[in-house]
Amino acid sequence: MKSALITGITGQDGAYLARMLLGKGYRVHGLLRRSASSDAIGERLRWLGIEADVVMLDADLMDLSSILRAVEMSRPDEVYNLAAQSFVKTSWTQPLLTGQVTGMGAANMLEAVRIAAPRARFYQASSSEMYGKIQAPVQDERTPFYPRSPYAAAKAFAHWMTVNYRESFGLHASSGILFNHESPLRGIEFVTRKITDAVARIRLGLADHVVLGNLDARRDWGHAADYVEAMWLMLQQEHADDYVVATGRSTSVREFCRLAFAHAGLDWERHVRVDAAHLRPAEVDVLHGDASKARRALRWAPRITLEEMVAEMVEADLERLGGKGKRRVA
Ligand code: NDP
Ligand code: GDP
Repeated sequence: MKSALITGITGQDGAYLARMLLGKGYRVHGLLRRSASSDAIGERLRWLGIEADVVMLDADLMDLSSILRAVEMSRPDEVYNLAAQSFVKTSWTQPLLTGQVTGMGAANMLEAVRIAAPRARFYQASSSEMYGKIQAPVQDERTPFYPRSPYAAAKAFAHWMTVNYRESFGLHASSGILFNHESPLRGIEFVTRKITDAVARIRLGLADHVVLGNLDARRDWGHAADYVEAMWLMLQQEHADDYVVATGRSTSVREFCRLAFAHAGLDWERHVRVDAAHLRPAEVDVLHGDASKARRALRWAPRITLEEMVAEMVEADLERLGGKGKRRVA
C-alpha cells in the first residue's frame, strides 16, 4: 500500500486530494497543527465523509523538528506540500508570517524530505499569483514571474527552492503552477465563496446585499476536484517537472456574480455593492492560463465547467444555511 503525506490536509485542496488518494488505496497522512478550536479544523474532511480514514500527525510547517518526525512516521512514497498562509489580502497585513509559512515552510518540507525520505516524490503547490503583473496575455510555464503581493513573493521563493532541490539533490520534486480553483470547500474569505455564501443568505432572507472590491478583476477559475488529479498525475511521471494547471477561460468577478445570483433567480445588480475598503494595495488584474503542457504530458483536462461549479457552490451554501439546496459534491 502506498503512503502519502499531505501538508494542508485540513484545507480545500488537502481534503479533495485526501479523498482521491484514499479512493486509489493510499494510506493517507496529514499534518494537523495545534489549535484551540480543534473541533472546527476537520470540517472539510467531515464534509467529504473521510475524517476517520486519514492519519493525523501533530506538526507545524514552521517547526522543522515536527515535520521531520511526521515524515519519519508516515514513511511517504509521495509528499504533497499544500500548507500555506494562502489568502493574498492577509499577506499584506501578515507579510512576515506569510514568508515564514508559505516560503520558508516549503524549504522546511524540502529539507525534511531530503533528510528523511529522499526517494519520496514531492509536490509543491505553486500559484498563478506568481505571474502577478502579467508579462504575457496568456501565461504558461515559460512566462516570467512578477509577484504582486507578499504571498506571491513567498510562493516564488518556494517554487524556485523546489526547482533547486530537484536540480541540486536529484529529488523527484514537481511544482504545479495552479490557477485559482474553487469548490464548496473554498475558504469563505475568497471572492467566489464570499459571493455564493451571500447569494444563499440573500435567497433565504438572511441578508440583503454583499460588499465587494474590484469587480473588473479576471481569474481563470477551475474546480479543486479536477486540480488535485493533476497534482497526483505529476508525481506519477518518470521525471519531475513544472506544469501550469488552468482551464484556459478567464472570467471577471462581475460575471461570476451574475452567474451565481442568476442560479438563485436573483439579479446581482440589486444586491452587490462596491467599497474601496476591499481593494488591494496592488492588484493582479487578470490571469489566464495555458495548460497545454499538462494536457499533453499528463493527459489532464478539467471536467467541471464554471457554470456547473457555481451551481454546486450556491447549492452547498443553501444547504449549509439550512435551505433547500440539493447537495452534489463533485
Ligand atoms: P487553504 O487555505 O484552504 O488551506 C491551507 C492549509 O494550510 C490548511 O490546511 C492550513 O491548516 C494549513 N496551514 C496553514 N499554516 C500552516 C502551518 N504553519 N503549518 C501547517 N499547516 C498550515 O488552501 P487551498 O487548499 O485553497 O490551497 C492549497 C495550496 O495551494 C496552498 O498552498 C495555496 O496557497 C495553493 N494554491 C491555491 C490555489 C487556489 O486557488 N485554491 C491556487 C494556487 C495555489 P489550518 O486548517 O490549521 O488553517
Ligand atoms: P486570489 O486571486 O488568490 O487573490 O483570490 P481571491 O478570491 O481572494 O480574489 C480574486 C480577485 O477578486 C482579486 O482580484 C480580488 O481583488 C477580487 N475581489 C473583489 N472583491 C473581493 C472581495 O470582496 N474579496 C476577495 N477576496 N476578493 C475580491
